[in-house]
Amino acid sequence: PNQSENPLRVLLKLSGEVFGGGQVGLAPDVVRGVAEQIAAAARSGVEIAVVIGGGNFFRGAELQTKGMDRTRADYMGMLGTVMNCLALQDFLEKQGIDTRVQTAITMGQVAEPYIPRRAMRHLEKHRVVIFGAGAGMPFFSTDTVSAQRALEIKCDMVLIAKSGVDGVYTADPKIDPSATKLDTVTFSDALAQNLRIVDAAAFSLCMENDLPMRVFGMEGEGNITRALQGEKIGTLVTT
Ligand code: UDP
Repeated sequence: PNQSENPLRVLLKLSGEVFGGGQVGLAPDVVRGVAEQIAAAARSGVEIAVVIGGGNFFRGAELQTKGMDRTRADYMGMLGTVMNCLALQDFLEKQGIDTRVQTAITMGQVAEPYIPRRAMRHLEKHRVVIFGAGAGMPFFSTDTVSAQRALEIKCDMVLIAKSGVDGVYTADPKIDPSATKLDTVTFSDALAQNLRIVDAAAFSLCMENDLPMRVFGMEGEGNITRALQGEKIGTLVTT
């Protein structure tokens, strides 16, 4: 990759579904593979922050349809993300990469609280920082949190790793076979055309603050490392 185009500091969003290998719970082999790819990019000097979802454990909206109170279910969802963070931390440290987990809900025995200035300090020391428990607030998603954290800790780009799709399409390719992949798209077009690959709140936060986003498929060999190192894979979303 072209060194001069390397983003200095990036935020990587991983969905929880991936960590579960398509099931409820954790697929350690998948997490190990993801950690190896993040470690490779970290060794090459990229400053990396990570936000992980919790869809492999609980989604608040889903539990609500089964009769649970939404806000309590959302807190369960947030707690699920923390388990994913600890799993990724474990495999990153086995790769010899210093890692810190910071959570939006304090739980001092397992992680640091979210302190943005401290997170930036960790990144400067080339520690990977993993953010858990989303925003700490019900009715938010980890996509939105990714954009918010990236802005607050001054990342150059948000990288959205997707499973089963390799970028932003003109329509959902699983439903519309004539959908085509876009190399670039603006946030306003993505919003206007209702391209829901990332939630609308995440798109608008990036748009309003001029923060570029890259959406890419994590299935390809080394794709996570490549995206972290600034390679132009997937779709670039800009203002
Ligand atoms: N969640 C929340 N507030 C947040 C982030 C997450 O309430 O700031 C809850 C919400 O219930 C969500 C669940 O945590 O469904 C898991 O997060 P998400 O659905 O974003 O995970 P992903 O789909 O990326 O695996």
